Amino acid sequence: MAELTPMMQQYMEIKNRNKDYILLYRLGDFYEMFFEDAKLASKELDLVLTGRDCGQEERAPMCGVPYHSCESYIARLVAKGYKVAICEQLEDPATAKGLVKRDIVRVITPGTVTELGMLDESKNNYLAAVSLTAGSAGITFSDISTGEIYATTVEGRDVPMRVLGEIGKFSPTEIILEGGMEGLEGLTAFAHDRLHATVTRAPEGEFTREKCEQIIAETYGADYLAREGLAELPAFIISCGMLLDYFRETQRCDLKNLKPINYYLPEQFMELDVTTRRNLELTETMRQQDKRGSLLGVLDRTKTSMGTRLLRRWIEMPLCNTAAIKKRQNAVAELIRSGERREELIARLKLVSDIERLMTRVVYNTANGRDLRALLATLELLPPVKAALKGAESAYLKELDESLDELAELRELLARAIVEKPPFSVREGGLIEKGYSSEVDSLNDLLKNSKAYILKIENTERERTGIKNLKISYNKVFGYYLEVTKSYQNLVPDHYIRKQTLANCERYITEELKELEGRILSAHERVCSLEYELFSKVREQVAGETFRLQRNAQALAALDVLCSFAVVARRGGYCMPEVDFSDEIRIKDGRHPVVEDLLKDALFVPNDTLLDTRENRLAIITGPNMAGKSTYMRQVAVITLMAQIGSFVPASSAHIGVVDKIFTRVGAADDLAMGQSTFMVEMSEVAHILKNATKKSLIIYDEIGRGTSTFDGMSIARAVVEFTADRKLLGAKTLFATHYHELTELERTIGGVKNYNIAVKKRGDDITFLRKIVRGGADDSYGIEVAKLAGIPQKVITRAKEILQDIELAEPVRPAHAPRRASQPEPEIEQTSFERSGAEALAESMRMLDVNTLTPIEAMNKLFELCNEA
Ligand code: ADP
Repeated sequence: MAELTPMMQQYMEIKNRNKDYILLYRLGDFYEMFFEDAKLASKELDLVLTGRDCGQEERAPMCGVPYHSCESYIARLVAKGYKVAICEQLEDPATAKGLVKRDIVRVITPGTVTELGMLDESKNNYLAAVSLTAGSAGITFSDISTGEIYATTVEGRDVPMRVLGEIGKFSPTEIILEGGMEGLEGLTAFAHDRLHATVTRAPEGEFTREKCEQIIAETYGADYLAREGLAELPAFIISCGMLLDYFRETQRCDLKNLKPINYYLPEQFMELDVTTRRNLELTETMRQQDKRGSLLGVLDRTKTSMGTRLLRRWIEMPLCNTAAIKKRQNAVAELIRSGERREELIARLKLVSDIERLMTRVVYNTANGRDLRALLATLELLPPVKAALKGAESAYLKELDESLDELAELRELLARAIVEKPPFSVREGGLIEKGYSSEVDSLNDLLKNSKAYILKIENTERERTGIKNLKISYNKVFGYYLEVTKSYQNLVPDHYIRKQTLANCERYITEELKELEGRILSAHERVCSLEYELFSKVREQVAGETFRLQRNAQALAALDVLCSFAVVARRGGYCMPEVDFSDEIRIKDGRHPVVEDLLKDALFVPNDTLLDTRENRLAIITGPNMAGKSTYMRQVAVITLMAQIGSFVPASSAHIGVVDKIFTRVGAADDLAMGQSTFMVEMSEVAHILKNATKKSLIIYDEIGRGTSTFDGMSIARAVVEFTADRKLLGAKTLFATHYHELTELERTIGGVKNYNIAVKKRGDDITFLRKIVRGGADDSYGIEVAKLAGIPQKVITRAKEILQDIELAEPVRPAHAPRRASQPEPEIEQTSFERSGAEALAESMRMLDVNTLTPIEAMNKLFELCNEA
């Protein structure tokens, strides 16, 4: 095989070191991609695939993007889950000898993005690192764009499944996995298929505990782990070390904006598996994956991106600690009560900038003058925000007030140092406020007056030479010059130095002009660099206050969410649920917040609920399709969840005993894509529930056992009811919707089971849904009536009713249009095929008749005849 060209050799060498990345290789004004990268990028970015000689027989596939617009292309690749590495020219190609030196200067991956344009402001962007060993897993999550970092350890049974549960809380865009345990494959597939996360496997054995402790010490200080009581959590330490190492590698600088590690225990939060999150449509709808139509969509009236992100976090992580829940509730109640306070806060919050992400830019030295001005504007809102909080009684509002730090000195500094409307660039001057530095002021003075100086020279020269149209202009090549048209050439004095000849004029310079120009240009250069220097110092001072500013960011975000809860509760007529550790869920006039919102003009019919671990453990809910069973069950789950995030709930009253986990088992249509049969998915979800639910859990089963034959399905459904309701085996609070009416008899035989149905009114063929849940089993499934409602043609409806009647009478189904037989037919198998039976003969005679031509009398006579024959 022929040798690659030297440039291609360089490319291959760099690519081989960065196999995981799409390599953007700088060539002149373009970033080029080659070989497989080129094929992939041309497809993903709709770029033309070309080729380039690479020294071998076949040209190397190639495609490229212009360097000045590369950001948008990179953003698109990263959004699709690719990792991108940028390879720059490290020397000026004009002066370099031989091949230009190149290397990677920046890598961008889905979980480590800090560029604002590539981030969704309403969402955190998490990177997760998971270290999986037999029996335990350490998981660390962090959003580098805000500095948040969370970590936990899961142990015991079903570790991979529980890791998924934790991952579901954060929906990371990128996951690094380490460990050799089985379950890793499933985890990888899941993360990839369900979360669309980019998954990287860390080389096995690379991250030892010692190495990871070292990395953590370098970021957080030598005794951090011991001080925080985290030193004896090996799985966590490895996952955290991996994550920090990856950040360092991708950011290529210190991680100064990381907040202290928020280590939590999984039990602090309500456990929701990924399926349940999806079924309950917490943050996006199942079909469109859209926020609208989800619980988040209803609850989100936040005014800041920080608040939007925090609300999402609260919804993803409902609390189990009643004190913490009540703390939020009381604050919401107070914000509902004192409207003036609330409106005042909301008015200010509208103007708050995303200081969380802004601080990241400050720390990484990419913040510009506008960022610092935005920070100042937010700091200036703090006094009125604090004034609005003055006299608040609830503990949480008081606490937030106290944690809001006005940072008067920093505010004063920013106001004094940065002009009100700074330019985008920080290197071209014009961003330092007058009065901040006398040197900057005098240089700016010179620059401002330079125009006047130039005009003065222009005037003197005109007078002195008598050239009336002499003028002084500026261009980049010659600097300032005097321009004299051809007609005045004879008046040009000797000391003018000719610089350029144009068609109708000549351009000159003079000593005096040159000297002034020197002063102006150096003043410009000097002021630009001086301003940049001063600006950088101010930015460093801001960076020095990262911790206090982040606390402000958190407090403002929390205020925003609490105000949002108050606004939603007022508008929707929600009530404050009573939350405690009892085992009761008692809801009066509960509504489904999302369905209620969607109905708009139509009225949502409220319903009551009573579940406990005594007489009302398991409700069997029957009723026709479309009656509202699913809505009702989800409503109970959603109200419980809302109560545990501190929100008010759509009901006239509610008493919610905290639940540790919510499980749902609902239709599984879209799991087919994952290569499992519907029934298999259904059963493995049921298995997961039966293994992991506790007495404190809430379970929703919607029509289990449908994916198989009726008897199989019914038997499974019944066994599941028996197991779930049995206090010795499980005894969780359960809502169980079913089509198997036979299950309603369990009310008589199993303690704690109660029958309910969703009432309908039937008149003739038509039914009306009353949407009201009532005690007792449904008397009918009304399938045919619902089919009629759905617009099935009348012919099919009538026929279905006939078939149903036959089945109910346990008769063989008659062919269409055949009359019902008065008595059981003779068993036909006993007929021999040689003798015509009476029935056959009768049928034969009837077929001979021409009914169309018979008169009524003839027909009567024929009938008598046949009767006698039979
Ligand atoms: P099922 O599970 O019994 O088939 P669903 O819960 O899917 O029925 O409800 C069908 C539709 O009925 C819902 O889409 C909703 O529009 C409406 N609905 C359900 N419950 C109510 C209610 N309580 N009040 C008003 N409309 C309701």
